[in-house]
Amino acid sequence: MSQSFDLVVIGGGPGGYEAAIRAAQLGMKVACIEKRIHKGKPALGGTCLNVGCIPSKALLDSTHKYHDAAHEYAVHGIKIDGISFDVKTMQARKDTVVGNLTGGIAQLFKGNGVTWLQGTGKLLAGRQVEFTPFEGAVEVIDAKNVILATGSVPVNIPVAALVDDVIVDSTGALEFQDVPKKLGVIGAGVIGLELGSVWNRLGSQVVVLEAVDAFLPACDKAVAKEAQKVLGKQGLDIRLGARVTGATVKGKAVTVKYTDKDGDHEELFDRLIVAVGRRPYTEGLLAADCGITLDERRFVHVDGQCRTSVPGVYAIGDLVRGPMLAHKAMEEGMMVAEIMNGHHAQVNYDTIIGVIYTHPEIAWVGKTEDQAKSEGIEVKTGQFAFAVNGRALAANDSAGFVKFVADAKTDRLLGMHIIGPGAGDMVHQGMISLEFGASVEDLQLMTFAHPTLSEVVHEAALSVDGRAIHAVQRKRK
Ligand code: FAD
Ligand code: AMP
Repeated sequence: MSQSFDLVVIGGGPGGYEAAIRAAQLGMKVACIEKRIHKGKPALGGTCLNVGCIPSKALLDSTHKYHDAAHEYAVHGIKIDGISFDVKTMQARKDTVVGNLTGGIAQLFKGNGVTWLQGTGKLLAGRQVEFTPFEGAVEVIDAKNVILATGSVPVNIPVAALVDDVIVDSTGALEFQDVPKKLGVIGAGVIGLELGSVWNRLGSQVVVLEAVDAFLPACDKAVAKEAQKVLGKQGLDIRLGARVTGATVKGKAVTVKYTDKDGDHEELFDRLIVAVGRRPYTEGLLAADCGITLDERRFVHVDGQCRTSVPGVYAIGDLVRGPMLAHKAMEEGMMVAEIMNGHHAQVNYDTIIGVIYTHPEIAWVGKTEDQAKSEGIEVKTGQFAFAVNGRALAANDSAGFVKFVADAKTDRLLGMHIIGPGAGDMVHQGMISLEFGASVEDLQLMTFAHPTLSEVVHEAALSVDGRAIHAVQRKRK
């Protein structure tokens, strides 16, 4: 007899595993099908835990510590003679962190009674799921509900097809066992900048080739401008308006051809990272008659609450519209688990945080100044620098600023944009404020602990009305 479940989740990434756990908490009989083999072992956690958020942050943290020790500690009077690093140890530590976390998800599945089916899932008609295990016979499972959560994979471009460990995507770039002398990165998006930073800190000469003329077009302009300046100073050679048109490997080197406003160029690199975006992954997922429709960009088409065109079948995370972010996938997973249990649930897509984990970090929530203006809103803004913040100076980590965008008529906060130390954590103050519909005045009237980096948030809110204390303000109210 075929197995049956209240819910079958296809894909065990952050979207799928959170949905599975929440549904089990709510009393459902749940199975999660995951086909990933990572370093020879079946693994839960998806892109994020295995080849995305976590390993990239592990390497970013290790290399940041090294960079600080080598270049910043002397200012504090700490001298380290003969400092060195070992890439293999860094990589092994990263693998341990990944292994602990993915193993943790397997434990959570056990603890919550979620059945992990190791193999590949395919949606058939009539809410049936075909399960092909790594070993053994194919099985058809009956499901009262199905969640499609198969995520995304890197976009490959024909002009720079992957070659061994010389032309790699983000997954390959997380596995370098030595430091390339000269590293090319195609794409100045989040992933390109984070991975470029990792290897730049270890001494690679990094050139980032970006087809578009604007730098970080999704960010507030002021933040993007500062980011370009700061990252440039760190040694990232960011070339905008540079479209890669070819890449040829000879031995252990790659010749990259690109075109910019000055014409055609050729440059030699030891390695090349292709970081030109990700695409939804639906290969082998949908039987021809399963009834699911894709949109024009091949994302699974869903409504505002992640319902597909088939009743009882939902799709979440990178597979559907919206930012390709782990926390967005997780919240959609939780929402869908609640909805299929008759609860009201909604993701607020207006308050999804974006973070780029360079140093300093770049983080934002809500509307940029230009976005608000283009929507016809009369805008007021305030900005305050970390350069005059006591705690940032004490730490010798004072690049960047906090910027607020607010509605000039109602005082309502519309967006928060940060480049600076700890931006990825600090931006949650803005997210919570937006969720509660805070005004700028609300933030102005709160007491922020001294001396903390968060005081810059307070001063930025005060500066919207020309009231910041630790800077001379021209406009006053
Ligand atoms: P995924 O995590 O992609 O998981 C989908 C899973 O489904 C995969 O494990 C896959 O094996 C499995 N699967 C696919 N098809 C089938 C099938 N037919 N049967 C069974 N299983 C299947 N996001 C952030 O928010 N913060 C970050 O710092 C961040 N850093 C990143 C760094 C890098 C280098 C990369 C590549 C991504 C990063 N992301 C980050 C993005 C983040 O990883 C994704 O947004 C997130 O993983 C999406 O989750 P998901 O559950 O939708 O899909
Ligand atoms: P993201 O989607 O944020 O990861 O960013 C990927 C970036 O890669 C985008 O900014 C694209 O403009 C850029 N890109 C895509 N194709 C090319 C190319 N052939 N040469 C240079 N940059 C590219």
